[in-house]
Amino acid sequence: MHAKTIVLRKIKEYQTIIIHGHTRPDGDCYGSQFGLKDIISNSFPEKNVYVVGEKSDYVDFIGQIDVVKNEVYQDALSIVVDTATESRISDRRYRLAKEVIKIDHHIPSEDSFYADYYWVDVDKPSCSQMIAEFYNTYKKQLKLTYQGALAMYTGMVTDTGGFRYRGVNRKTHEIAGMLLEFGVEVEHVDYLLSIVSMEQIKLKGYILSHFETTKNGFIYFVLTKEIIKQFNLKLEAAAASVSYLAGIEGYPVWALFVESDDEIRIRLRSNGPEIESIARKYGGGGHDQAAGARVENFAEIKNFVQDVDDHIKKYRDQNEVKK
Ligand code: AMP
Repeated sequence: MHAKTIVLRKIKEYQTIIIHGHTRPDGDCYGSQFGLKDIISNSFPEKNVYVVGEKSDYVDFIGQIDVVKNEVYQDALSIVVDTATESRISDRRYRLAKEVIKIDHHIPSEDSFYADYYWVDVDKPSCSQMIAEFYNTYKKQLKLTYQGALAMYTGMVTDTGGFRYRGVNRKTHEIAGMLLEFGVEVEHVDYLLSIVSMEQIKLKGYILSHFETTKNGFIYFVLTKEIIKQFNLKLEAAAASVSYLAGIEGYPVWALFVESDDEIRIRLRSNGPEIESIARKYGGGGHDQAAGARVENFAEIKNFVQDVDDHIKKYRDQNEVKK
């Protein structure tokens, strides 16, 4: 039986379904959570369906997080979307549910086996695409509205960098097209996602004149708490700056180190070598070309930078040999 079929069977079986995502939710996390909520609540109006987890200012037009009491988990089904590892699940109460389903598109690691049922497809460029495909497969039995379509379309756009990353294929565009038929306007979504504040533009200028580079082609910037404060930005808005270092000739790997009160978050990207293995070495993970991890102090950043530089060198040497 396909994992999708089990997901549908379990949804039908439970009266209460609570949808979890990951910490620091992004467009794809929200898109998957609210897309799934829309499908379930419109298809089965008698069921109680909730989305829990952290709030995201960036994509709050997608939906609002529900407040759920502990008792609600009794006899409930938790569905965790877009979350590779157990430690990143937002709202630890997911465990209180009777059963847990994981729906995800990340490469699994040791900390990834937290559910009773799994639907994991690492070939999908976004988890929102998986949820939209779920709807599409069973559309004779399911209902979807504009708000759910908006959620999933936004998730697909954000996680693929606007349909530009590996994994995007004909199916991706077909599914996106299916969502547009619910009234989603491409221009409107682009406006909501691309509008930036004057503070962000000023920070962009600062990053573009203060980044650091290594010998073999790693380009990065360390965004300290002080800089974030200086530019009067919220952490999430400041962390979005990783894309400013993308696609610079001779620099196939780029990263933003973001300092917060309790950690330094690494947002790592590549258009050359896979970098998931490096993120994993530092306790993180993700995808071949977009991954993340965290370190505890600035000394660890130094090691990380060295590791990435060595990794790029190895990649360059191997590609030289192939030529
Ligand atoms: P981000 O830079 O936060 O957009 O993350 C890029 C990708 O790496 C996403 O698919 C994340 O799910 C994944 N990722 C980020 N941080 C971590 C982490 N600490 N552990 C595992 N995966 C992560």
